[in-house]
Amino acid sequence: MSSASSSSSAPGSSAASTGKTSMLSKAFSKVDLDGHDLPPSPAPSSPHNGRKYALATELVYTESNDQYNASSVPIYQTATFKQTSGGGGGEYDYTRSGNPTRSHLERHLAKIMSANRALAVSSGMGALDVITRLLRPGDEVVTGDDLYGGTNRLLKYLATNGDITVHHVDTTNPDKVQEVLGPKTAMVLLETPTNPLIKIVDISTIASLAHAANPKALVAVDNTMLSPMLLNPLDIGADIVYESGTKYLSGHHDLMAGVIAVQDPAIGDKLFFTINASGCGLSPFDSWLLLRGIKTLGVRMEKQQSNAQRIAEFLESHGFKVRYPGLRSHPQYDLHWSMARGAGAVLSFETGDVQVSERIVESARLWGISVSFGCVNSLISMPCRMSHASIDAKTRAERQMPEDIIRLCVGIEDVDDLIDDLSRALVQAGAVNVTLNGFHALNAPGQTVGSS
Ligand SMILES: *Cc1c(COP(=O)(O)O)cnc(C)c1O
Repeated sequence: MSSASSSSSAPGSSAASTGKTSMLSKAFSKVDLDGHDLPPSPAPSSPHNGRKYALATELVYTESNDQYNASSVPIYQTATFKQTSGGGGGEYDYTRSGNPTRSHLERHLAKIMSANRALAVSSGMGALDVITRLLRPGDEVVTGDDLYGGTNRLLKYLATNGDITVHHVDTTNPDKVQEVLGPKTAMVLLETPTNPLIKIVDISTIASLAHAANPKALVAVDNTMLSPMLLNPLDIGADIVYESGTKYLSGHHDLMAGVIAVQDPAIGDKLFFTINASGCGLSPFDSWLLLRGIKTLGVRMEKQQSNAQRIAEFLESHGFKVRYPGLRSHPQYDLHWSMARGAGAVLSFETGDVQVSERIVESARLWGISVSFGCVNSLISMPCRMSHASIDAKTRAERQMPEDIIRLCVGIEDVDDLIDDLSRALVQAGAVNVTLNGFHALNAPGQTVGSS
């Protein structure tokens, strides 16, 4: 728990937020954390004795107590719920505080995120906003120097307006993290792999260092890049994991959502208090869409990952500097695989020339020019011009972000079609030297020729 959690003004529990939970707790012995007489969170699905279901099964399998046994959990598109008596008493009363579709999603998420409690909010940044409200003025945050642009912006806002000190260090080096850790460290915020530089962060080592510096420090991990399919940060020392549900969890770029998961129910209660107080809980319809997306996370991620591996090998074998943890050439290959079950489907490469990179991006047809990732469609972008444009050029240079870097977010299309389209774009953009024997990168920096 953070220093924030010991503050007397902090919300004590969800009971305070609904005012009726304590009453209900007396009436029912098996009420869950929200005061609902439903299966506990996470909802049980594996048989009590015998085999524990694998993640691929858990993603698909859900149990609900729907009155008609609907196979697809219904969308409770309602703001209010009628009560049985003047004193309330219903499981739900108001959708900002709780809605059956959202509760079902949250229980499902808790299971697959290896958590005791999961919470769904309106976006990934909304999730980080809720998490950072655990901080108090004077607190210190330690985080990376290759962060998601929106994360950078929110932390800058807190540093400017919230009297929070934010240390941006190279989190790929635990020694650098150690240098800024101390008793005032309230939160350590990590992303792995980082994006677009695809740097790997040693979650468990940094979590131990952080907890040694301040036992109340909270280690929060942004797991958007890998999803619960490939990594469960709560199992390796993190206190809080959050993800943008807009990406892999939903998978179709048709909704925005954020999810937060914790082991400690006391932290879960505080996060719930903020969600209820500020009103950022995920809407019933988006909860339903996200639940539907999660069911195919396994097959999507498998296909996206195998496509990404082929494409990374293709680019590397043609002389480009490629960053992808599925390649042996990745300097932190072993560290990545010591934590994760796969390499994910985001990679980046350099051409050595900003104009050439621009032409490649514009020449690709199958690859949509778009920020974001995690969609079934393949996407191409220049982070310095798009997703990371909110980080000023000087800071980008300090963080050694190559202006020519191209990010590929690989989808589920036929991989030969994707490679064919990319080859055509490389030739058209003049990025490669075409000979009778094929083609090779013209001026990629630090290239490792023919290493595959
Ligand atoms: C997209 C993203 C976010 C923010 O999520 P939104 O749903 O867009 O608010 C945070 N972290 C990472 C790594 C992301 O890719």
